[in-house]
Amino acid sequence: MKRLVVLSGKGGTGKTTVAAALAQLAAGERRLVLVDADVDAANLGLLLDPREREVTDFVGAETAAIDAGACTACGLCAEACRFEAIAVSGGAYRVDPVACEGCRACLYVCPEAAIAMAPQLSGRRYRSDTRLGPLFHAHLLPGQENSGKLVTALRRDAEAWAERERPDVMLVDGPPGIGCPVIAAASGADLALLVTEPTPAAVHDFRRILGTLEHFGIPALACVNKADLNAERREEIRAECAARGVALLGDIPYDEAAVDAVRAGRPVTDAAAPRLAAALAGIWRALVPHLDA
Ligand code: SF4
Ligand code: SF4
Repeated sequence: MKRLVVLSGKGGTGKTTVAAALAQLAAGERRLVLVDADVDAANLGLLLDPREREVTDFVGAETAAIDAGACTACGLCAEACRFEAIAVSGGAYRVDPVACEGCRACLYVCPEAAIAMAPQLSGRRYRSDTRLGPLFHAHLLPGQENSGKLVTALRRDAEAWAERERPDVMLVDGPPGIGCPVIAAASGADLALLVTEPTPAAVHDFRRILGTLEHFGIPALACVNKADLNAERREEIRAECAARGVALLGDIPYDEAAVDAVRAGRPVTDAAAPRLAAALAGIWRALVPHLDA
C-alpha cells in the first residue's frame, strides 16, 4: 500500500477539494482507504456523503477534578493554578475542565489529597463507508486540543483496517500548518502532494511545509490552485519547486464551478466543471508514476 498525504501549509488553498477529486480519480483504478486528518475542520466527509459504521470515543487529556467531600476550601490549589482554571463559588472550589491544562500543580499542593486527574472526552473517531472507500474521520469537541494525538489515533485506526483489507492507496487529507497534527498526518507517508496558490501567504507557508517535509525525509510534489490569478507568484512557486527538486504536477485554474461543487457537497470532478476536471485529471496522471515508483 502507498500512503499519499495532501497538505497545504496555509489553510484555504483548496486542499480538501483537490484531495476529494484525486480520491475520485484514484478510486476508478485502485482500492482506497481515506483519512480526513484535518480534525479541527474535517470537511472531506462533506463531499463524500459518508455513512457511519463505527464510532470510538477519543480521550485526549486528563483534567483535574476536586472531591468536594475531602476539600477543606483552603484555596491553595486556586493559588497554584497558573491557568486560572480553579474558581470558588458558594464556598466550593471547582475546576473548569476547558481551562485546565492538566499540569497537576493543584494535585501536588492540595494538603487533603482531594484532587485527582480524570480522563476527559475530547472527541470521537469514525469509520464510515463512502462510494470511494472507507473514510476514517474525527470530530474534536469544542475547546479541546490534542489534535495531534487524535490524528495519530485516526491514522492507527486506518492502518489497522488497511492491514486487514489491503487497499492499494491510503489517501490522507492533512491539516494546514506545520505543527504536530501535520507531522502526525504525514508520518510514514510515501509521498506528499502540496496544494498551494499564488498568494504571498500561501507561498510563504508553502516554503515552510516544504522545509518540514524535507526534515522528515518525505518526498514532496506540488500543484497550484487558482494558478491564473497571479502570474508572478505562480512563477515564484515554479522557481521554488525547481530549486528544491519538487515536481510541479500541474495548475488548476480559478473557476467559480469549484465553489458550486463545494456548495453542492460534491467533488469538483463530479460536478459540471470541465476545466477543473481536466486539470485534476492531468494532475492525477502526473502523480501516478510517482505513486508507482
Ligand atoms: S491540573 Fe493544572 S491547570 Fe488543571 S486545575 Fe490543576 S493546576 Fe490548574
Ligand atoms: S487545595 Fe485541596 S483542600 Fe484546598 S481548596 Fe483545593 S482541593 Fe480543597
